[in-house]
This record gives sequence, structure tokens and C-alpha cells, in this order.
Amino acid sequence: MSRTFVGWPAFPQAAAAATRDEQLRANVARATGTIRAKRAKLVAERPDWEELRDAAAALKDDVLAHLDTYLLQVEEQVTAAGGTVHWARDAAEANRIVTDLVLATGEREIVKVKSMLTEEIGLDNALAVAGVDARETDLAAAIVQLGDDLPSHVVVPALHRNRAEIRDIFVREMGRHGRPAPEGLSDDPQQLAEAARLHMREKFLKAKVAVSGANFLVAETGTAVVVESEGNGRMCLTLADTLISVVGLEKVVPTWRDLEVFLQLLARNATGERMSPYTTTWTGTTPGDGPQTFHLVLVDNGRTRALADEVGRQALRCIRCGACMNICPVYERTGGQSYGSVYPGPIGAILNPLLKGPDDAQTASLPYASSLCGACNDVCPVRIRFTDVLLELRHQVAEGDARIKHPGEKAALRAVGAVMEHPAAWNTAVRATGRARPLVPKKLPGPLGGWTDSRAVPDIPKESFRAWWKRTDGGTK
Ligand code: SF4
Repeated sequence: MSRTFVGWPAFPQAAAAATRDEQLRANVARATGTIRAKRAKLVAERPDWEELRDAAAALKDDVLAHLDTYLLQVEEQVTAAGGTVHWARDAAEANRIVTDLVLATGEREIVKVKSMLTEEIGLDNALAVAGVDARETDLAAAIVQLGDDLPSHVVVPALHRNRAEIRDIFVREMGRHGRPAPEGLSDDPQQLAEAARLHMREKFLKAKVAVSGANFLVAETGTAVVVESEGNGRMCLTLADTLISVVGLEKVVPTWRDLEVFLQLLARNATGERMSPYTTTWTGTTPGDGPQTFHLVLVDNGRTRALADEVGRQALRCIRCGACMNICPVYERTGGQSYGSVYPGPIGAILNPLLKGPDDAQTASLPYASSLCGACNDVCPVRIRFTDVLLELRHQVAEGDARIKHPGEKAALRAVGAVMEHPAAWNTAVRATGRARPLVPKKLPGPLGGWTDSRAVPDIPKESFRAWWKRTDGGTK
């Protein structure tokens, strides 16, 4: 079974541990600094960058406003092209659908590529319970899986690892899952890439079933699109007999013309490249070419919940470029795992509470994992206003019951509520408080003292506002 984020501590606790890890902080700072510099150079080449961002935000908003129409169009087109569409309300349903599809093929070892969503829903463990071994083939995801680790970035899940650590993982683990690492493997990037290539090629050539995600779904033709740098995705998407793509509802773009906007933004903003080395597209099945069976599993798992949030729904515009993580001073110091989700950084701080609801201590802590500096607002290619959403989510957490955990605090608030509901009781309480003025201490006793350590207890007026109003006739006497 793979490790998961289930039971992860709230952000302050996780971040406190991460910030003490100097190696982790050095690895994250080096990697994000390098990607930031590449991105800045490549973005500066495009005089129309801001217009592209405007267009992308507007296109995504149109998709979200008419999601039902576009999704039905996707279903119609995929079905007409020989594929089968499945709808999953939540993680359990998606896992059941995929597991049943894999078991029906009789295969017990499959390959996977480019799917954060399958990590979000815990597909690997659901397959493992059914006796199916799913091997990651995206290089960074494979490093995480081989190291029994957890992802820390949406584009580079093993960003928190340096070359020496990756070498050690390859030497220790590759032989347990297939072709071992070559003798005398060093931490030279070319040697590491070659070791991964040899290990994975064996799997590509054997696997009859592949599971993928998709960066986009083009509604007008029902075409799925995967964008990647290594070519491993292309191998998965073309060599297997059966392809199962597990995709979030929000990945739709209406037309190929619209896709063009996102393809111009994604690579520059994600990895500082003019275009992605591999863009693979497929529409249903083609006799004699590529997978002969294609299933598209469309997953909600909280997306319609997020869509219902007027301020927060803009988080569903995200195209997972990772730029908000690379620029974030909080992410740089805490690393991605502190966010307790496959979606870390600023997008994780808003998307996780929107998908799951800010009802437990872990998700309720995420909107506070930000200094509100707004650097993420400036780099997001789909113009998500993180600071607006963070403030709205903090408001929701504060309004909800999630933060009021202490039974004493709950009882006190209930008592105040009861007094405020009854005018006679309220007036009596106000008069009594006025009379008790001289007794109010400047420093509160016991655990309440923490509050007065940094604040002054407000002076209680001699007379209530109502009494003043009555005595002066609204200030006219
Ligand atoms: S929120 Fe914006 S910057 Fe962050 S990963 Fe998504 S698209 Fe990229």
C-alpha cells in the first residue's frame, strides 16, 4: 500500500516540522529559484502575455458557467468516437469504476501517467486492495512511488528531493519492482534518466492497461490532451491495449481554438519552456492504431461543491502549472507536503477547502497558510485572485463551527447568544456590566491572560448607548 495524506496534521504542525529540515528547505529553494528564473525569462518574450491570461480566465469562466452543456458534449463526442464515458460522484465511485475496468481485462500490473486526480482519490491503494500493481511512469511521480514518499508539487512531485537522494532511491528500490538500477549508478542527471528509462521501458512494453489523467478535454471533438516533457506519457497513451483516463470535470475547453490559448500559457508558466516537448491528443479509438479500448472516467469529488462557491469557484480555472508554488514564500520555506494534499502551495490552500469543505482542522488551517503577499495573483496564468479566495475561506472558517472547538468557548458563546435574544435580559446585563466597571481587571486571569498580554482590555463606558440616547434624546438635549 502507498503512503497517503490521510490523517495529516494541520498546516502549522506540519510546517513546524518541515521548516526544521534544512536539507528540505535547501532542495525546495534551489528548485523553485531555478524554475522561477526560467519562467520570468520566457514570459518576458511574449508581449501579449497579459492578453493571453485575460483570454484564459474568460474561457475558463465560460466553461464553468456552462459546465453541464460542455460535459454532455464531451460524452457525446467520445461515445461517437468509440470510447465509453463513466461518471463518478466521488473518490469511492471513481475507484470502483476503474478497479472493475482493470479487473475485467484480467491484468494485474498496469502503468500510470500524469494523473494527480488518481492520487487525490487514492486509486493506487484501491487497486492494490484488488490485487493490481499500478506503476507510475512520469519520472518525478515514479521517484515518489519508489521512495514510498508523498508528492510535494503539482508539476515536479519529487521537487523536495536532490540528485543524491534520487540515486539512493533508485539503487535501493528499482530491483524490487523490476529492472534494477545499473551497477555503479552516480547522481549524474543523465545516468539517473537512463536508469529510469531502462526500468520503465520494460513496463511500457509489458503493460496491456494504462491509466492516465488529462490536462484538457476538448468538447467539440471529445479529444483528451496530455502535455508532458519526457515522452513517458506518449508511451503509456499509445502502447497499451486499454486506456482508462480519469479526469476532473473542470478540465473541459470548448474548442481547439481555445486549447491554443492554454498551450501557449502552460509550458512557459510551468517549466520555463517555449512549448511542451510532448503534447499527445486522442479521440476515442482508432482501429489498428493505439489503444483499442478507451474509457473516460469523469470525476466530481467536490468540484460541484467548489463551483457553488461564488468567490471560490475561480480555483477551478487552475491548469496545474505550479507557478503559484514556485513564487510562494510560504511554500519555499515549508515545502509542499506541509499542505497535506496532492495540491500544495497557494492553489492547495484554496482548492482543498473548496473541494472538501473547511470542516476539519487540517483543511480549516489551509486558508491561513499564506502571508497574503499576493505574489501568486501575479503569476497565475488564469488570473485566480488567491487573496480574495483566501480571505473568503478564512471568513467561512471563522463563521463555521470548525474553529470553535473548546467546549468552554462554545458554552460561553451560547450563553451570550441566549442573553442577546432577550431584550430584558440584555438590558439587565448591560446595566450590571456598567456597575461592575471598577472591578474589571486590566489583565485577565489564568489562560485568558494570553489575550491581554498583547491587548488592552477596553474601557467600559459609564452609561450604555441606549441610556445615553434616552437621556439626551438622541444627542439633541
Ligand atoms: S493556481 Fe494558477 S499558478 Fe497555481 S497551479 Fe493553478 S494555474 Fe498555475
